[in-house]
Amino acid sequence: MSNATSRRTAARQRHVQIRSKAPELAATSEPPRFVADVMLGRLAKWLRIAGLDVLYSNRYSDDELVLLSQREARILLSRDTRLLIRRAVSRFIFLESDNVREQIKQVFAKAHIRGLPALLSRCLACNDPLSDVPRESVSQMVPPYVYQTQAQFKACPRCRKIYWAGTHRQSVLRTLERLLDESQ
Ligand SMILES: [Zn+2]
Repeated sequence: MSNATSRRTAARQRHVQIRSKAPELAATSEPPRFVADVMLGRLAKWLRIAGLDVLYSNRYSDDELVLLSQREARILLSRDTRLLIRRAVSRFIFLESDNVREQIKQVFAKAHIRGLPALLSRCLACNDPLSDVPRESVSQMVPPYVYQTQAQFKACPRCRKIYWAGTHRQSVLRTLERLLDESQ
């Protein structure tokens, strides 16, 4: 067997093992929390828009991902069979598709996400929950048109980015709602 062939065979075997190892995740009263691997930056961002708590950094090592998952009881989201095959990995979702919409649907379905009550409540860059800020306090920090037309503003306590209702286009929200419907 060539090296390439044996690598493909090994990868296929890992796929099979991981599918049989994949846990049935229990439904919980609180929304589940996640940690996503380096390949899933877009997925992490979409889930944060949906209000879900998703740790993501392109600097996390595999060891850190496993540790964060264990220590903070986070569901590990990964496309990496070498990572998921590890004995220490027990609560995970194996994202087989590289299509972000399919990935979102898979997470909604496997993690029993039934609604989007916390939509737009989290910083997309930091994952921190946003806090309400007085409108006057952002007058110099947002474009004049935005200041004039928006009544409510929120800010990230970590990076100070200001958010308002128009930050996310309606189409993004509609997409999330449709994917949630399709996942049920
Ligand atoms: Zn932030």
